[in-house]
Formats: sequence, C-alpha cells, structure tokens
Amino acid sequence: MATLDGLPPLREIIQAHDLVAKKALGQNFLLDMNLTAKIARMAGDLTACDVLEVGPGPGGLTRGLLVEGARRVLAIEKDPRCIAALDEIAAVYPNRLTVLNADALTVDAGALLTPPIRVIANLPYNVGTELLIRWLSPAIWPPFWQSLTLMFQKEVAERIVARPKTDHYGRLALLAQWRCDAKIVMHLPPEAFTPAPKVHSAVVHLTRLDAPRYEADFGILQRITAMAFNQRRKMLRSSLKGLHPNIESLLMGCEIPPTARAEEISLEQFCALSRAFSLA
Ligand code: SAM
Repeated sequence: MATLDGLPPLREIIQAHDLVAKKALGQNFLLDMNLTAKIARMAGDLTACDVLEVGPGPGGLTRGLLVEGARRVLAIEKDPRCIAALDEIAAVYPNRLTVLNADALTVDAGALLTPPIRVIANLPYNVGTELLIRWLSPAIWPPFWQSLTLMFQKEVAERIVARPKTDHYGRLALLAQWRCDAKIVMHLPPEAFTPAPKVHSAVVHLTRLDAPRYEADFGILQRITAMAFNQRRKMLRSSLKGLHPNIESLLMGCEIPPTARAEEISLEQFCALSRAFSLA
C-alpha cells in the first residue's frame, strides 16, 4: 500500500527491524500515518519551526512531522534497536532529521535546536510527567520551546487542564496553567496503539505565555501548593499551619477563607497567597 512519504508501512518496518515492543520502555506505537500527521497538525504550522521529538520509536510520528513540513526534527530515542529504522527516514529527508540514541532526560535539547522550537511527542508513560515538569520549570522563563504537543495517559492529560473544584485539580494543573494555555486537543482509545495499552490516551497542547499569568515566586508557589495538596482534604488553616505563625490572617488578607480546601482555590488566589507570604 502506498504511504504519504513513499517509505514502507510501519508494520513492515517493525517486522524488518524486529522491533518487538518493550513494556519497560513504554513502547505503544502509532502505526496509522493519517493519525500521526493529524497529531503533527495539532501543533500548528511547523514549516518555520524546529521540532524536538522524544521517543520516536519506529518513526510513525516522526514521519508525520516531516510530512507536515517541519523545518528540522531532533528525535531522541533511548532504544538502540530503533536507530537503523530512523536512519532510513533521515535518508529520505536530507538535513531535516537528526536522530540521537540517548535518554531524553540527559540531553539539553534546547541547545541543539534553533528557535522557534515546538516539542511534539508520543511520550513514554514512565517518563512523560517528569519531562513535562522539567519543561515547565526551567530556571529562566520563557523556556526554549514555544509549544508542547504531548500524548499522555488520559488521566494525566486531565490533571494538566483541570479547573478548581474538580477531582483532577492539583499541582500539575497549577504549574501548567501558571505559565501556559493548556487544552486537550485529541482523545485516543487503546486500539489506536500497537500493542494496545490498558488505558485511554489524550493529546495536550500547551502554548507558553511570555510571562507567568499572575506574579509569584516560583519556589514559594511550589512550596505552598505542595503543602496544600499533600493534604488536599484538609482545611487550608490546618494544611498550611507550618507555613506561617498567623496563617489565618495571611489567608484572610488574600480573601481566602481559612476553612477552604486546596481544591477550591484558584491559581490567581494561590499566586496572591505566595506574594503575601513573601512580604510577610
Ligand atoms: N513515537 C512513537 C510512536 O508514536 O509510535 C513511539 C512512542 S512510544 C509510546 C515511546 C517511545 O519512547 C519508545 O520508542 C521508547 O523506546 C522511547 N523512550 C522510552 N524512554 C525514553 C527516554 N528516557 N528517552 C528517550 N526515549 C525513550
């Protein structure tokens, strides 16, 4: 069957290179090129962008990114078995695909790419959240990337976009929404992947803001939200007791009822509390 880029279908590539999926590496592959091109389009116009892809595997999404016109793709893959298959794609797109056999957690990818940079990946579930938190927590803001378009387990995706007073609302939502616009742009059932995982998945698109949505010191905001959500069912006057000797008046000064619980407090209120704490 003809493919969008003239390369063999992904099933043939997987067979030819004997890429039996390894659970320990979070390997659930996307084999439908129409779907991978659609995910690439969710990231916006790629023609003037460098793209960082983590975990290209046999290259389904990589090919989607290139078909959609990415200026250059840096694909970082930990599994050495995938490299020969990825090099075959690189040969069809001269100077547009660089393949690195490495653990993405150890690579300073921003230093290897030219802005504007988009990060687009079907992430390995075991390191996906850790990578997201790193991308959202650089020492200097704005970060090296302009947007993140990332596949997650549906539950993690819901935690990223969650609003106050919902079950999924917590530290990840606050971190993501403090410095980004975040939305779920696609839902995928287990059968979209080979092998099919046990869970549903979703693609989240995060666009960075030039500056945080509300003023706050990052370290203080992290500390307060950690204390508040580590005991999310407790009232704030109790969960934040260790923060300040007069926590009740600090809360009331920010118009936060001391009897409120963490999940009822908006990002704006947590930022106000962080500012009040840094002045106290
Ligand atoms: N992008 C491919 C696709 O959509 O079909 C594969 C996605 S699969 C969910 C995750 C990929 O990440 C696997 O190929 C796995 O080997 C790779 N991987 C796992 N841990 C990694 C790490 N720390 N650094 C880079 N790649 C990793």
